[in-house]
Amino acid sequence: MISKARYIENTESLTEDLPLIKYENPDYIYLALTNARCNKGEVYVKEGDYVKIGQVIGIRKSSFFEQNIHSTVSGTVEGIVKKFHRTGKLLDFIKIKNDKLAIYDESIKDRTDDEIARLTKDDFTKIVKDCSIVGLGGSSFPTYVKFASDDPIDTILINGVECEPLLTSDQRLMLEYPDRIMKGIEYTLQAFKAKRAVIAIKHKYQKVFEVLQEAQKRYPKLNIEIKRVGDYYPQGWEIELIKSALNVKIPVGELPSKFGIITFNVSTIVGIYRAVKHNSPVLMRNFTVSGDGIKTPANFRVRIGTPVMDLIEKCGGYEGDQNKVFIMGGPMMGANLVKDDAIITKTCTSVIVLQEKNYVEEPCVRCGSCVYSCPVGIQPVQIMNAYKMKDQKALNGLDVNRCIGCGLCTYACTSKIDVKDYVRRAKMLIK
Ligand code: SF4
Ligand code: SF4
Repeated sequence: MISKARYIENTESLTEDLPLIKYENPDYIYLALTNARCNKGEVYVKEGDYVKIGQVIGIRKSSFFEQNIHSTVSGTVEGIVKKFHRTGKLLDFIKIKNDKLAIYDESIKDRTDDEIARLTKDDFTKIVKDCSIVGLGGSSFPTYVKFASDDPIDTILINGVECEPLLTSDQRLMLEYPDRIMKGIEYTLQAFKAKRAVIAIKHKYQKVFEVLQEAQKRYPKLNIEIKRVGDYYPQGWEIELIKSALNVKIPVGELPSKFGIITFNVSTIVGIYRAVKHNSPVLMRNFTVSGDGIKTPANFRVRIGTPVMDLIEKCGGYEGDQNKVFIMGGPMMGANLVKDDAIITKTCTSVIVLQEKNYVEEPCVRCGSCVYSCPVGIQPVQIMNAYKMKDQKALNGLDVNRCIGCGLCTYACTSKIDVKDYVRRAKMLIK
């Protein structure tokens, strides 16, 4: 099996200095009926119906969560079609033909500053739920569940680290929309009655640091610190980030809220801003197209539901004649797709297209590199061996579920084994 992490020979960013290109009016958009968090979907519209921007056209559900589905264009529903989701699965999507008239639903309307000042925590929770805000860094965890926590919160930690190689969509967000971040922080501090916010960015993001510092001066009443943390992977992992930015050690499995801390990705903070100020769901997001398989890598501002192929065309298409490896998300944690017929959902940060290289998996030499590199301290090689033997008893004693899917074991493996994939399959086996 070919390992996707092994393809990354050059981890230098190709896009960090490239301003966002706006691509806001695709001919069609596609909205997933289900996703990784919600395995059931209900559609409120039918073929031929006219829909507006921000209109609720369905709902995704699971035993624990539910998320409204909002149209992100105005236009006509053309039915349900199969497309690839960012998880690599072929799912049902609602197809809408964009009339490019940008007609907004009546529910999208601004709140005044006075109205916002009167909002209670319950109001904020309802707003982010109705607007279907989720972890936009890729976690897709429903934001309303975090807002509903009763734990007293002292610190809001904003994750602007974007730690996987090649991704720059959050960097561009911080460089180009710093005021939206500051307003989102203001609302979040108000909701939680928290004392301070800390924005964590990588140490090497000098320009981002300067832009945020300037923006901070425009909000002198907010207690915000900009903290520069390590330039390594997986610095963006919540537990690691809290340790680096706040010097608090959260035991794996414990909730940061029990320690007075709540974390949001920087894109989620902008989503919260738009929900509170404009009563708007997430209609657009930043999206990076990168990798050595793309002619001209770029950063885009796109409408949710845009086909990835539209952007690949805007980038001049694929580079070279070799087969490509197509990864939705970062090269370490993203999902490989078998086709490029994928759709940008609100939690998609990027697509990485790489030239295919034929790596041959060699036998494990018991070097231990995977064990040394694992940030959660489990034993990837032992898990792999137990999985191969289908030894459930052994797997039960190996803390498989602590794996965060970071991909470092695969990256470090001297025998080019996709160790992470064995750990993922072991997780499935014991589920
Ligand atoms: S993918 Fe899982 S097992 Fe592998 S290094 Fe990361 S946390 Fe450890
Ligand atoms: S890094 Fe690869 S070769 Fe080394 S112990 Fe782990 S699985 Fe075996």
